[in-house]
Amino acid sequence: MKDRIHNFNAGPAALPLPVLEEIKDSFLNFAGSGMSITEVSHRSPWFDGVINDAIERVKRLLKLDDQYHVLFVQGGASMQFCMAPLNFLSDGRSADFVNTGTWSTKAIKEAEIQNKPIKVVASSEDKNFCYIPQNIPFNKDAVYVHLTSNNTIKGTQFETLPDTGDVPMVIDMSSDVLSRPLDMSKIGMIYAGAQKNMGPAGVCMVILRKDLLDLVPDNIPSMLSYATFANKNSMFNTPPCFTIYTIQLVLKWIEETIGGLEKMDERNREKAGTLYDFIDNSGFYKATADIGSRSLMNVTFRLPSEDLEKSFVAEAIENGFGGLKGHRSVGGCRASIYNPTGIDAINDLVSFMKEFEKKS
Ligand SMILES: *Cc1c(COP(=O)(O)O)cnc(C)c1O
Repeated sequence: MKDRIHNFNAGPAALPLPVLEEIKDSFLNFAGSGMSITEVSHRSPWFDGVINDAIERVKRLLKLDDQYHVLFVQGGASMQFCMAPLNFLSDGRSADFVNTGTWSTKAIKEAEIQNKPIKVVASSEDKNFCYIPQNIPFNKDAVYVHLTSNNTIKGTQFETLPDTGDVPMVIDMSSDVLSRPLDMSKIGMIYAGAQKNMGPAGVCMVILRKDLLDLVPDNIPSMLSYATFANKNSMFNTPPCFTIYTIQLVLKWIEETIGGLEKMDERNREKAGTLYDFIDNSGFYKATADIGSRSLMNVTFRLPSEDLEKSFVAEAIENGFGGLKGHRSVGGCRASIYNPTGIDAINDLVSFMKEFEKKS
């Protein structure tokens, strides 16, 4: 469709066009119900079909066995910064946190507000978070280790997850969930705000290993307890039905159109590789993240001056490339190239960047 731009927004972000078209086609009469998905009851067979199919698709894509709950919680990933320590650290024991950027820092703060005795065991703050710490000294007696797998703002990503021994990892995967296969064997929980890689804003997917529910105390508010969401199939209260429906369609697209997470990973590597190769060879653009720590989802880069960055972003918009301005806290430029972004968008962007360099 000609009036749609190449959308490199960090979140809410681009969705697959076939998903948007399916929503449009079924918007007034969902699954023969005679109602829109935004009008059906969450306690109807129509919505049960949506949420249960979404859960089954997540389980198939990530090869999850029955040890895991797939939950949908409101309040975004930011709510998980508060819920994880509230639910898992009620008996005075500690958790380890790795600080790799803005979102990790916020997760740490939300645990500290609750006076939880957490330990920050590694940080890349010394170099403005341009790398992922290695050889981290984890504590054997921690209840869990908290990580941010992909740092949306700083443009870094754990290439492989660290070895935390017997301590389960709790991972904020908001910006790289379902972008590659995942070994769940050392993972206690992952969470991901939908609006980066899965759907519209409004819900956070939480995948929780059932044994962690043993840590959840009874004396916390129902809506802040993982047990509530696990016991009620995420429908203790009214869930954001439309958001979950869109997620279901995105999951179907990953499974049936892309062909699963190995294929998704190949496609994402080709995209990021193309863009980083061009940047590294240009001498004009400069990637901000260290090699070995670079994100396949958020490519952050600078131009020779802030003035050039300003005109780059403005001209990009005129030419149909949106969302290339870096996060307001760091400046520079950023191309967010989540699952839905195709290689065609990357090739077009590289052509535009070449042109811009030539005339600058
Ligand atoms: C965007 C983002 C968040 C915040 O998500 P909300 O859903 O807005 O609360 C947290 N962590 C990471 C890694 C993010 O990219």
